[in-house]
Amino acid sequence: MAAWCFSGTKIVAIGSNYRDHAAEMGKPVPAIPKIFLKAPSAVIGDGQAIVIPPRTQRVDHEAELAVVIGERASRVPRHAALDVVAGYTLCNDVTARDFQKEDGVFTRAKGFDTFCPLGPVLVTGIDPGNLGIRCYVNGVVRQQSRTDQMVFDVATLIAFVSDIMTLMPGDVISTGTPAGVGPLVPGDVVVVEIDGIGRLTNPVVARDDRARAE
Ligand code: ZN
Repeated sequence: MAAWCFSGTKIVAIGSNYRDHAAEMGKPVPAIPKIFLKAPSAVIGDGQAIVIPPRTQRVDHEAELAVVIGERASRVPRHAALDVVAGYTLCNDVTARDFQKEDGVFTRAKGFDTFCPLGPVLVTGIDPGNLGIRCYVNGVVRQQSRTDQMVFDVATLIAFVSDIMTLMPGDVISTGTPAGVGPLVPGDVVVVEIDGIGRLTNPVVARDDRARAE
């Protein structure tokens, strides 16, 4: 385990990749991985504040296993996919749920500054296929599942994504969230926890636009 911070070119995230989360969102279990990009400028580290922007009525936490790519990787076959992994860390795919529904695309809803807590350590030598994953808000468990509930496993996701776009060292694939997503409000403290990796903790604050308006 080593301290880690994001240095890649992109964060590829996966939608509806746990059966129970697809069900709670009223979406079918996908036949192929549903991928989208989160802005690298949204990344923050452990302990930094998630800033809720004005106008959104609902910002959710999404606890996710994050795969960090270790080498340039294009069209990697599934059987060799785990060879390009540098290690694993934690992601909170923070989402303005009302904007996601309003837009139909995810760039605004998931792209605000601070909406991608990542880290804080890189863990190697673990099997990503059956890890306990949890999210706590103010110490109360909100999400609790295991990575064996993913629709598409880590190797399948790397093969699928690298067939579309070249993955670079430091790039991240965030593998989707289980059921139990729920709102964050200013004053909350949210923790993403995965067995064998650790915890990613972030306070939540409201954006203060008064200085800008003056
Ligand atoms: Zn997500």
